Amino acid sequence: MSVYRDKRDFTRTSEPEGAPVLAAETDGAAWRFVVQRHRARRLHYDFRLEIDGVLASWAVPKGPTLDPSVRRAAFHVEDHPLEYFDFEGVIPSGEYGGGDVIVWDEGTWQLDAAGGPQSPGAALRAGELHLDMQGHKLLGRFVLVRTRTDAAGKEQWLLLHKRDEYAVEGWDPEDHPRSVLSGRTNEEVKAEPHRLWHSDLPASQASVLLTPPPVPEAGADEIDALDHIGREGTWRIFGRELKVTNLDKVLFDARPGEAPVSKRDLLRYSAQIAPVVLPYLAHRPLNMHRFPNGAGSDGFWHKELPAHAPEWLPRWHNPDASSGEAHTYLVVDEPAALVWAANFGALEWHAWTSRVEEPEQPTYALVDIDPGDRTTWAELLVLARLHRTALEHLGVQGQPKVTGRRGVQVWIPIAPGPSFARTRAWAEQLSRTIGAVVPELVSWKWQVGERSGLARLDYTQNARNKTLVAPYSPRPAPGAPVSAPIEWDELDDPGLRPDGFTIRTIVDRLAKKRDIFRPVLQTGQHLPSLR
Ligand code: MN
Repeated sequence: MSVYRDKRDFTRTSEPEGAPVLAAETDGAAWRFVVQRHRARRLHYDFRLEIDGVLASWAVPKGPTLDPSVRRAAFHVEDHPLEYFDFEGVIPSGEYGGGDVIVWDEGTWQLDAAGGPQSPGAALRAGELHLDMQGHKLLGRFVLVRTRTDAAGKEQWLLLHKRDEYAVEGWDPEDHPRSVLSGRTNEEVKAEPHRLWHSDLPASQASVLLTPPPVPEAGADEIDALDHIGREGTWRIFGRELKVTNLDKVLFDARPGEAPVSKRDLLRYSAQIAPVVLPYLAHRPLNMHRFPNGAGSDGFWHKELPAHAPEWLPRWHNPDASSGEAHTYLVVDEPAALVWAANFGALEWHAWTSRVEEPEQPTYALVDIDPGDRTTWAELLVLARLHRTALEHLGVQGQPKVTGRRGVQVWIPIAPGPSFARTRAWAEQLSRTIGAVVPELVSWKWQVGERSGLARLDYTQNARNKTLVAPYSPRPAPGAPVSAPIEWDELDDPGLRPDGFTIRTIVDRLAKKRDIFRPVLQTGQHLPSLR
């Protein structure tokens, strides 16, 4: 870490000097590793192992390989802070390491018993690391060994793969050029970076999220082409070729006086709405609520991206997935990915409230005003208006939307930082304070059957991998209603209905009102104390 530290002026900052070690140094302990493909002055792969609270790092010009007959030169470079672990984006030119970076591979590693009973730090100092690697691309046993140290103290090492069941003759890292985080190549990240890394700032401030640029709309020709496909075929949309199927199948029963809604209608809508909804989905794992047999049948949650999904689909590998959990999630970072999900039968789109960069830090606090069997729309509006009053009083910005079923939600943007537990506690206190004003309308019982038909102010979705339906997502009901953002004033509009907007009417509303939900994408808000 010393060289990295020397590049900073610690007298001017309060940067913590290296975060604590994440795993204990005990037998069988696993630490994280990352390999970043970095196009700086020269292309190289940065091979980084978490050791003693920093990322011990080597620059490997030709990249690591599974080929056991090849030895790669690896130049030991300065330790990097753990904050750099999952960095993918652009380092501005002129700054140290200027260029573009993707997370080419990541995973965990352990000390292989062949290296003897050492700690990672001791093995590093001794100049010989025997690694057992569990990544997406790098698997099996590797050895890193120091071969010489030049007069200036620069250490040259060799990196090689042992002959084990994971060895692959002729394996070339350049044949596997995509990020395991985003599915993107260096070229794609350079063209549209989501993050910058300022090498000259303290690690805690170095990573800067960029506001995504507006997503271009699909051309009218592209949309119209869908109507010229028969029951199935290939649809070229947003620059991708998508195999679309069962286009004439009715997915939503008709509302009185309307035609039923077919899968073709749903796909057309997903392409029309994708540029609008993308900012709410991008960088977030998507939980798909699938109804392949239509909105009238039972749906089910589908979180794991299937193996047959096209390779170009952006995805996220959950490094903390437990054995029963999904490991690989779709991430709708490009509009064609939403159309793919719709074709896959995902009628409802539920993005996480945290982003893949920081899965434990929500970017919204959520309030879900969930009607009971006996709750009338008028009563639900009373509860929604009380939330409007409370947020006004607190000076907190939140945006309401109707759910497309019977309820109303309020999404409150927050600056990243607070945990889910803190955010949930805040939402609970807000809800209990409001509920106390109208105890005759609200139940705090968990079980539906014990609520006496009363409404529930549900703060429990403020949790990792719990979601509310995304804005503009269809809901599984006749006519294909959507969860539509509204203005606070519309709570006083006698014509407002919770399921009043459908995939057939919301596009016109958007043309008139623009996207009024955008304020939830602001990230600077800190929740005030409610005590
Ligand atoms: Mn580098």
